[in-house]
Amino acid sequence: MRIVVAGGDGFCGWPTALYLSKQGHEVTILDNLARRKWDDELRSNSVTPIATLEERVAKWKELTGKEIRTFVGDLNHYDFLREVFRQTEPEAFVHFAEQRSAPYSMIDREHAVFTQANNVLGNLNVLYAIKELAPDCHLIKLGTMGEYGTPNIDIEEGYIEIEHKGRKDLLPYPKQPGSFYHLSKVHDSHNIMLACKIWGIRATDLNQGVVYGLHTDETRMDPLLVNRVDYDGVFGTALNRFLIQAAIGHDLTVYGSGGQTRAFLNIQDTVRCIEIAAENPAEPGEFRVFNQFTEYFSVKDLAQMVKKVAEEEGLTTEIAHLENPRVEAEEHYYHAVNTKLKDLGLEPHLLTDEVLKDILKVALEHKDRVIKENVLPSISWK
Ligand code: NAD
Repeated sequence: MRIVVAGGDGFCGWPTALYLSKQGHEVTILDNLARRKWDDELRSNSVTPIATLEERVAKWKELTGKEIRTFVGDLNHYDFLREVFRQTEPEAFVHFAEQRSAPYSMIDREHAVFTQANNVLGNLNVLYAIKELAPDCHLIKLGTMGEYGTPNIDIEEGYIEIEHKGRKDLLPYPKQPGSFYHLSKVHDSHNIMLACKIWGIRATDLNQGVVYGLHTDETRMDPLLVNRVDYDGVFGTALNRFLIQAAIGHDLTVYGSGGQTRAFLNIQDTVRCIEIAAENPAEPGEFRVFNQFTEYFSVKDLAQMVKKVAEEEGLTTEIAHLENPRVEAEEHYYHAVNTKLKDLGLEPHLLTDEVLKDILKVALEHKDRVIKENVLPSISWK
């Protein structure tokens, strides 16, 4: 299959591009390398030293003989995007290419406006490019479980049957996101739903949980193929961030009581979920939604799991409850459905002590790269 991976230089996109290439697909990466520039802006870095995109794809070709084409440019430059569609004629377009940090979107007005313009307009351009140049192309779009917020009822996969005044309908599940970033994903979902309805586009919205880990079989093949890992207060996500804090002897920074419960999955399952979606495309006109996660944990449970494993490895680790910089419920009901991907063949890699130790090992190996002052949260929602 001819597949474009937009955002293919990023944390989820890079291992996905390698995995799909290994499976025999004709893979093209589109990325404007903005994530690397945001590191410069924030004076931050990936814990692992990452090679340039050119070096990465050259090493992949050397090791496997497989070519991954690259296009460096912005989804918001429509002429560029059209050219990529013309040259690649994609059958699936995997869309990871957005600004994905909630704290980054909450820095100030400029960052909120940038996040929504980058994400919402970029996605709208992708929809128009599919309509204009590849109407049968399956859009596989990364959304987030954060679109739903934390309702006091079970979270369904995209739709919920509602009975109201004696009548019933299957309606989009209500969205109550908690940041301007998460809202950009909700806006994307609405735009995709309309495009499917009016133009007959086929789309799968993958509401992904928080991704942990870094390695896949492919990224382990050579140091030049290693994935990025974020740990700072802006781009670092719970679990990966805790493991890196443990490696440098920093307290594990739990925001507030830590009862916030979120859905998680291993990066190895991210890449497999994309393959499953690509191999089982949505029907023309269908706006399909999968909840892409395997387990959920409260933040304080994760901190305790990391503390235990770190201590077994001889590290002294404390858990610190910081004043919560976000506005969110710290104790709440959480139960979300995730059957559709499993029904299509996903076999989850669950979180075990071995998995935690494996990520901790990488963090320890590169701990001298950690810029300690970046670890604490610096952005407030208020
Ligand atoms: P990332 O920042 O590591 O990668 C995103 C990539 O997209 C970067 O390489 C960046 O340069 C590129 N990009 C951004 N805007 C672009 C634009 N306008 N044009 C071209 N390229 C652009 O992020 P990630 O962690 O790999 O996340 C990928 C996707 O998955 C995002 O859409 C994110 O919202 C979603 N997601 C991620 C997680 C997670 O835990 N990492 C969880 C849920 C959902």
